[in-house]
Amino acid sequence: MPGTLFVVATPIGNLADITDRARQTLARVAVVAAEDTRHTGQLLAQYGISVPLYALHEHNEADRADALIQRLSAGEDVALVSDAGTPLVSDPGYRLVSAAAAAGIRVEPLPGACAVIAALSVAGLPTDRFVFEGFLPPKTAARRGRLASLAAETRTLVFYESPHRLKDALADLLATFGPNRRAVVARELTKLHETVYRSSLAELGARAEHDPNMIRGECVLIVEGAPAADDNTDIARYDGALGALMKHAPLSVVADVVSELTGARRNALYERALTLRRDRNEESA
Ligand code: SAM
Repeated sequence: MPGTLFVVATPIGNLADITDRARQTLARVAVVAAEDTRHTGQLLAQYGISVPLYALHEHNEADRADALIQRLSAGEDVALVSDAGTPLVSDPGYRLVSAAAAAGIRVEPLPGACAVIAALSVAGLPTDRFVFEGFLPPKTAARRGRLASLAAETRTLVFYESPHRLKDALADLLATFGPNRRAVVARELTKLHETVYRSSLAELGARAEHDPNMIRGECVLIVEGAPAADDNTDIARYDGALGALMKHAPLSVVADVVSELTGARRNALYERALTLRRDRNEESA
């Protein structure tokens, strides 16, 4: 009988955030495949678990997955963990899991902590439909390109971001999506300095400039989606007013005024004005 590959979530900060089943499984498998064996060794020691560890990270996964498949095929149970949270979510493991599944090996999830889900659960933004975009490209041009391709996305957008790039990412979001979308920065979740900032992109961008705490530690960035297509069809009836006012005032003021006069949603008006301006620029180019 082949063994089972257990994909085990570990805490994203608070050590108590691990399930009983995860602890029992980690203690009884033949080997734990870990992104960083030193880090995982220390984590398991805190739970009183001592088990052989095997390094499996993004640089050696392609080679090492085969060896693990052989052990699984020979009947050994293997657990896969990453440094924090759920393996495969912006972490290694994809190659191993797909190779195991292709080899007919049973792959079992042991669910638990995951920063995307933890952040969404407290963001206060719509969660009925969301899209996880992982890390944005580190360079500005590529990041702006990626964001431009997401500008019309109506689902809530979730990004992982490193603290030293948060300011730049917020600036690019502001430039691409405009100032009004609601957004959330959820930092240091489950840790001592856990903070959730909920505001508009404009206010979060400004805060990142002067609040050093905001750009410390690990964070998840969540942004409200674009207004739905129905809203856009409906909002097109205000094109005349938007077009006329745009000649005389910044788009944020135009959206404010038209929203106040008509009762239409300010964000939808702002997005519509952005589209009109883009169309005009393209026509005159
Ligand atoms: N596999 C992990 C998971 O399930 O969330 C994610 C691993 S990814 C390499 C690390 C990123 O997750 C960080 O850069 C940050 O964006 C996010 N993250 C991890 N722990 C976090 C925490 N405690 N609070 C906020 N964000 C966190």
